[in-house]
Amino acid sequence: MHDEERRAALARARGDTLAVRAGQVRSSEGEHSEALFLTSSYIFDSAADAAARFAGTATGNVYSRYTNPTVRTFEERLAALEGAEQAVATSSGMAAILTACMAYLQAGQHIVCSRGVFGSTTMMLNRYIAKFGVAISYVAPTDYAGWEAAMRPETRMIFLETPSNPLNEVVDIERVARIAHERGALVVVDNCFLSPALQQPLQFGADVVIHSATKYIDGQGRCLGGVLCGSRELMEQAVGFLRSAGPCLSPFNAWVFLKGLETLRIRMEAHSRSALAIAEWLQAQPGVTGVNYAGLASHPDHALACRQQRGFGGVLSFTVAGGQPAAWRFIDATRLLSITANLGDAKTTIVHPATTTHGRLSEEERRAQGITPELIRVAVGLEDVEDLEEDLARGLAAIRCA
Ligand SMILES: *Cc1c(COP(=O)(O)O)cnc(C)c1O
Repeated sequence: MHDEERRAALARARGDTLAVRAGQVRSSEGEHSEALFLTSSYIFDSAADAAARFAGTATGNVYSRYTNPTVRTFEERLAALEGAEQAVATSSGMAAILTACMAYLQAGQHIVCSRGVFGSTTMMLNRYIAKFGVAISYVAPTDYAGWEAAMRPETRMIFLETPSNPLNEVVDIERVARIAHERGALVVVDNCFLSPALQQPLQFGADVVIHSATKYIDGQGRCLGGVLCGSRELMEQAVGFLRSAGPCLSPFNAWVFLKGLETLRIRMEAHSRSALAIAEWLQAQPGVTGVNYAGLASHPDHALACRQQRGFGGVLSFTVAGGQPAAWRFIDATRLLSITANLGDAKTTIVHPATTTHGRLSEEERRAQGITPELIRVAVGLEDVEDLEEDLARGLAAIRCA
């Protein structure tokens, strides 16, 4: 009933409404919550219908590697939140990055990548994408002359993450997009740290936005998943790879992410509020030699972050006096925080990047990225800030006592 008017109301709706309602198509059962279509395949009305759907002359589902209604709802909701024409879901964040490489690059071409990207991204590019004849250059995230200088006639893609992990360097997306587009290259932005609730890179000229949905989109550390967002043309190229190669999203995980999206903005605001409070608190503690959080007025990219982002997110890092032994003592003295490399969870996590997330990089690569032995990363969750501060104080006491 009133289907046309419902669609029109939703088409005019704002972000919070889209996060709760976009993309839902109710089945004949009239369920209120999104249905979970846990099915690998679909039945056809007749042999002729099967032939038409396989030929693409009739619409309708064929097989869940191609389409699944729960996955489609997730894709439509995420496209609405990122302001994209279309989104395509993948089995993990890394599968989304792999899909971008396979769909948009070919042998003989070149990627310019920010040095401040997720460790597995660097590993995948260096070890596997390079093997297929694609060259990769790395640039410090905020070295704009470096971005310009790294461009070659065969550069097809710029890949970046902002804010960077774990130093919170903020890349000016508009500026990098100008450099890329003058030379016919695509800009791919990994928007995992802020989510569409706090940053929409397409607004600043990015061509493709990638997420690890495993992080804030889930928000409670349950499922792996990923997504690409962008123009219909670019997304259709991604779909082509996914259908052939198969790293597609499980409908169960898509359903979990749909529930996560409903609370995304209020969670991101809470993560941001607590992370800022903790960054300010850390800054005032003896024994802490530096705090990296773009929400601090003292951060070199603070003004840019205020223009480009609607919040600063939950991830911060800091350094302690005493090198790696002190950093490990600090981490081991905490009793509430989880020692894990994950982020984007309701539970606060703490990790030593140099020996975990960035441990597989060479010493030299780590130094170039600013991953020093005394650096600690915290991904602030949703607990009481006072409890988190008391736990971090245990870490500080452990360093003082040594
Ligand atoms: C976790 C993460 C990824 C990879 O996502 P998976 O879902 O673990 O494959 C990519 N980029 C960033 C910034 C991440 O934090």
